[in-house]
Amino acid sequence: MIKLEADLHTHTIASTHAYSTITENCNFAREHGIKAIAMTDHAMLMPDAPHCWHYHNLKILPRTINGVVVLKGAEANIVDYEGNIDIDEETLSYLEWVVASYHKYTCTPSTVDEHTKGYLKIAENPVVDIIGHPTTAMFEYDMEKCVKKFKEYNKIVEINESSILYKKGSRNNALELMKLCKKHGVYISIDSDAHFHELVGQAPQAIEMAESIGFPQELIINSDWDKLRDFIVAKKPDLDL
Ligand SMILES: [Zn+2]
Ligand SMILES: [Zn+2]
Repeated sequence: MIKLEADLHTHTIASTHAYSTITENCNFAREHGIKAIAMTDHAMLMPDAPHCWHYHNLKILPRTINGVVVLKGAEANIVDYEGNIDIDEETLSYLEWVVASYHKYTCTPSTVDEHTKGYLKIAENPVVDIIGHPTTAMFEYDMEKCVKKFKEYNKIVEINESSILYKKGSRNNALELMKLCKKHGVYISIDSDAHFHELVGQAPQAIEMAESIGFPQELIINSDWDKLRDFIVAKKPDLDL
């Protein structure tokens, strides 16, 4: 049975369509065996994003809240098919963790070729840590080509429980994506994308799918906090994790 020890994509009330505080998220996480969470509220171009000061002040948060490690991050919007996101240099300097996602509100869906080019370019963007919900039906792309590139550039591929639950087409795409990550030995992270604290670290649908295809636990980077921490520190040696 796959168990998760970290959740690398969560929202707080700083995104206005989310409903819990960072403290509530951490308390729920601790009670459910989650040792670390990334706090990844929406970046600036999203209609419900916080002011940039939200990111500039993240330094005042402690490393752990009620025993849970907090990675101070953002869910960036991929804004084009050239590998760009909507976070400026100064704001990036305050961030420890960047999820990069396509959203129809901040990038107009185009062709499969364009989406593929976009993901290949975002793989090369050094500030991006994890590819957020790359299962969205309206941003279809050449998965195998991109999965190989994500591996080459040390990006984690996200399997997003909220997308599986609420976004049409995401379930089938997530299954296909997991099969390709298994085939090519690419790290995935099974994340909640929680918008309410009781969802933090919870991904029963994604876990069931992973188990149904015998997805190797050692490739689920957030199933082992020690392993994930080593991965992050290798990439960001200055982080005091
Ligand atoms: Zn998203
Ligand atoms: Zn999100």
